[in-house]
Amino acid sequence: LKTAADELASLLAQSSRAVAFTGAGISTESGIPDFRSPGGLWTQNKPIPFQAFVASREARAEAWRRKFTMDDSYRGAAPNRGHLALAALMRAGRLDAVITQNIDNLHQDSGIPDERLIEIHGNGTYATCLACQRRYELGWVRERFEASGAPPDCEACAGPVKSATISFGQAMPEDKMRRAAALAADCDLFLAIGSSLVVYPAAGLPAAAAENGASLVIINREPTPLDDIATLVLRTEIGPLLSAVMERFQLPQVS
Ligand code: NAD
Repeated sequence: LKTAADELASLLAQSSRAVAFTGAGISTESGIPDFRSPGGLWTQNKPIPFQAFVASREARAEAWRRKFTMDDSYRGAAPNRGHLALAALMRAGRLDAVITQNIDNLHQDSGIPDERLIEIHGNGTYATCLACQRRYELGWVRERFEASGAPPDCEACAGPVKSATISFGQAMPEDKMRRAAALAADCDLFLAIGSSLVVYPAAGLPAAAAENGASLVIINREPTPLDDIATLVLRTEIGPLLSAVMERFQLPQVS
């Protein structure tokens, strides 16, 4: 761990435009399971594809049932050492932006400002109408769903209301993907943290950064398909590593 932290701190010290790209692995220490590890969410439920959600009221009801069950299980989840270290590195001017595949809001909760955070898979803490984009709070959806057993439709246009996350088969948010691609093209250091790097187009970002000449660092307890093109592969736990890196810069330690 000591060498890994030294190597990563040294790359960060040399970099002037560093970007972090995070996946579900940064949030496992907060008690939120990832998709693909043993016991991950994937092994419990196959995701409901976007087309099924749009096409069927029954699929929508099932999606909301699962969503509320999950939210109840992870209600107390708070940012961990990994999230807090990234926020501290950003405050210290060592990190320009965070691109995340996560939908759990923990980067915001750790203090990363909105303008430096790109959520390419959306956010699970609110809902929107798929037709007119009107925003709904989850409490509004839940009240109606629990009272009637039916998934609520938009009050303005009767369109389907969906958690503001990107499902399989759903279009990626173009503006965010454009900003993420620009960061991957311009950065000199790209840290891929806790992502299995198999979900495209998201996994294309670290590859693009490496092609554009950035140093690519992969932090994951398991091998990934991009390990071969990485400058540095740190096969370790994210929280302890990032807090050790933070200490190298003598930033305040968080518990
Ligand atoms: P993934 O589940 O495919 O991969 C997570 C990776 O992190 C794995 O390769 C695993 O080996 C690694 N990992 C897990 N915990 C770790 C730890 N403590 N230290 C080091 N490595 C660790 O996740 P993904 O690549 O982000 O793709 C899954 C998709 O599912 C994403 O698109 C995301 O939107 C969604 N998702 C989000 C959350 C969340 O918001 N917290 C949780 C589950 C899934």
